[in-house]
Amino acid sequence: MGRYLGSSCKHCRREGMKLMLKGVRCETAKCPIEKKQRNLAPGMHGWRKGRASEYGVRLREKQKVKRYYGLFERQFMRYFHKAVRVKGNTGEILLQLLERRLDNVLYKSNFSPSHKAARQLIAHGCIYIKGRKVNISDYIVKIGDKITVKNSEKSIKKIKGQLESNPNFTAQSWLQVDGEKPEATVVALPGRDDVQIPVEEQLVVEFCSR
Ligand code: SF4
Repeated sequence: MGRYLGSSCKHCRREGMKLMLKGVRCETAKCPIEKKQRNLAPGMHGWRKGRASEYGVRLREKQKVKRYYGLFERQFMRYFHKAVRVKGNTGEILLQLLERRLDNVLYKSNFSPSHKAARQLIAHGCIYIKGRKVNISDYIVKIGDKITVKNSEKSIKKIKGQLESNPNFTAQSWLQVDGEKPEATVVALPGRDDVQIPVEEQLVVEFCSR
């Protein structure tokens, strides 16, 4: 699977909000969204802000979700079609599926500073679920899944370092994090309130159902 090699900050500037794609840097004053003169949409006409069309509003909502979770269009649409097939509110099911991605679970457990760093941990074979190595970021976790770290000094040190860098961290209620071992257990499925970015999922569904 390919990966996006361009500037992550451009995504935040386009959406006009912090998507927290760069980990620690996002909390500092270096974040362009914090700087008034750089908080513009990318491109030479970024300062022009016209009234968005109905299509534009829906497009932005979809792009926001896609970029926050670090997905390409085809991957995102695969989740959408999966959500459509499940009975219930398609928007909420879509967000729940995205929340249950393994890279997101590592990010939400504070094992990594960003989704991108979480994907790197997974690709490097540092993550185990129920004792078996999992090297795919889009693994969808289930209730009862126990996520552990490879039994190597380097991997454990890296994750513990990340946990210690953020002592005020509190895990969301659907995750149980043990920083000592370190390990995380999925104790429930994520709900709508566990999604950290403001998004109107109904607009995303309307865009994708055109
Ligand atoms: Fe860049 Fe992070 Fe700020 Fe987004 S939140 S603009 S990724 S530093």
